Amino acid sequence: MESALDYHTARALLEWQAELGVTDAIGDTPVDRYALPDTAPKAKKPAAVQKTPEKPKQVDPTAVAEKAARAAGSLPELRATMEAFDLCDLKRGARQLVFADGTPGARVMIVGEAPGRDEDREGKPFVGRAGQLLDRMLAAIELNRAESVYITNVLPWRPPQNRDPKPEEIGMMKPFLERHIALAKPEVLVVMGNISCQAVLGKRGITRLRGKWDQALNLPVIPMFHPAYLLRQPQMKRQAWADLLELKARLENG
Ligand code: URA
Repeated sequence: MESALDYHTARALLEWQAELGVTDAIGDTPVDRYALPDTAPKAKKPAAVQKTPEKPKQVDPTAVAEKAARAAGSLPELRATMEAFDLCDLKRGARQLVFADGTPGARVMIVGEAPGRDEDREGKPFVGRAGQLLDRMLAAIELNRAESVYITNVLPWRPPQNRDPKPEEIGMMKPFLERHIALAKPEVLVVMGNISCQAVLGKRGITRLRGKWDQALNLPVIPMFHPAYLLRQPQMKRQAWADLLELKARLENG
């Protein structure tokens, strides 16, 4: 059938319909859509219900350290346990564990703060300049590592750039320190510097605390200036000398 519409009118009408939202041209003959083959996309099976991923279990590093430390029955076992302990980030930045030096079972046990660069390299506490001063201080009261002194630190790994240990690092490693002291069985403890005072006595203020006997872990404890501090403040050596004499007197009378 000839259309009565010219091209332009028909096009304008079509565009007008498209603007109204018409999407299909309807033919002259009706279409039975129910009779058409089913070409509609099949609804996807719902995906298997995803389990919410289990939250990683929160570990309490201090509780893990306590359990591990308790299980160590000797100093070599404690060392191995500490070497296997992975929850302290300091371990990742350090070359090795710095466990102890000197004579296990000696009457005097010294607790320093943490390894520095030299200790990290050699794997022994107090081997750098501060350690050399410590050896001279001990020699002045006839003590030495080879026979009469056992030495460790609050932390067995070097903190980056020798920064101060963080309270959470001290708390986490404290069970190992306490077990270390229990297994080494000293008669007296010497805590050097504020960090060791904090870890062993729960107190800070070395200038006030130094030279006075205290008690912790069922042992007499004497706080002293840290040798690294004495290297920076040599005028404080006079007090350090008095504290060494106090220690000597205790050993002679004990
Ligand atoms: N300072 C410490 O407290 N410990 C060391 O082992 C060395 C330096």
